Amino acid sequence: MIKIERLTKRYGKKIALRGIDLEVKEGELFAYLGPNGAGKTTTIRILTGLTRPTSGSAWLNGFHIEKDSINAKRQCGLVPQTINLDSELTVFENLNLHGILFQIPLNERKRRIFELLEYIGMENMVNIQVSKLSGGLKRRLTIARALLHFPKILFLDEPTVGLDASIRRKIWALIKKIQQEGTTIFLTTHYIEEAEFLAERVAFIDDGRIVAVDSPQALMSRLGQWAVDTIQGDSIKTTYFKTKEEAKRFISFQNGSFSLRRVNLEDAFLQLTGKRVNRLKSYNKNQEKF
Ligand code: ATP
Repeated sequence: MIKIERLTKRYGKKIALRGIDLEVKEGELFAYLGPNGAGKTTTIRILTGLTRPTSGSAWLNGFHIEKDSINAKRQCGLVPQTINLDSELTVFENLNLHGILFQIPLNERKRRIFELLEYIGMENMVNIQVSKLSGGLKRRLTIARALLHFPKILFLDEPTVGLDASIRRKIWALIKKIQQEGTTIFLTTHYIEEAEFLAERVAFIDDGRIVAVDSPQALMSRLGQWAVDTIQGDSIKTTYFKTKEEAKRFISFQNGSFSLRRVNLEDAFLQLTGKRVNRLKSYNKNQEKF
């Protein structure tokens, strides 16, 4: 559904993408995980036609993003990182305007708007001015707007940034529901837990390069199943083990205090890039202290 070949992007002297190759299958929920400045937004902007690549090619559902840009754009909906709804207009007016731009005929447009508002649980907010909505509701409305023209691919750029934990979980549930109904989802995030919870496959991106692509489980199990953390000076040293018994045996031969926990996606990212990405407060809640 998404195919990317040797994609590069330069902004003057700054190289944002250094040759990206990637394929995302139809119906897949794919996460693009990396720290700030890694090149995530740049990739989405190129794929959705908002900026041109310096070199390389990409296709959305078989349509080339530059040679067949109108058809390529019709394949996708975009939820940008910064909410760009028209705050003076109502919920309905925002969706209606988008539908007009996509040339959806009036009756079909109205039907689709009410169907989507029901889908995102905002059917009672049709005439509310957007400026009066909470951050979570604005995010849901932006998702509905991106789905209005029945896109095959939904691009979500950091969809839960700045939202509190309970709203974040509601957005996650909505994203899963959209995927279950057949839409291919390409999501960028710098939250480890978001990628681990949502994605079937994850690409780690760092400094404009993809360093690994696999399922979260496969990326984690490259290291083992269990991790033992110990503080050494001002850093944490982590040792990985296949079984909990091996990890406990290791601890029994050491002095000092240790935390035993399951290997997580952050370990895999750290191992491959030497960098940490953001984690949510709830991460690593199941550790045992020794
Ligand atoms: P974030 O999570 O902070 O949005 P990101 O992974 O999406 O990060 P990008 O926004 O794609 O990263 O940026 C990649 C690199 O390109 C960064 O170093 C950024 O400063 C630079 N960059 C992005 N847009 C521009 C621009 N218009 N002009 C110059 N440099 C840019």
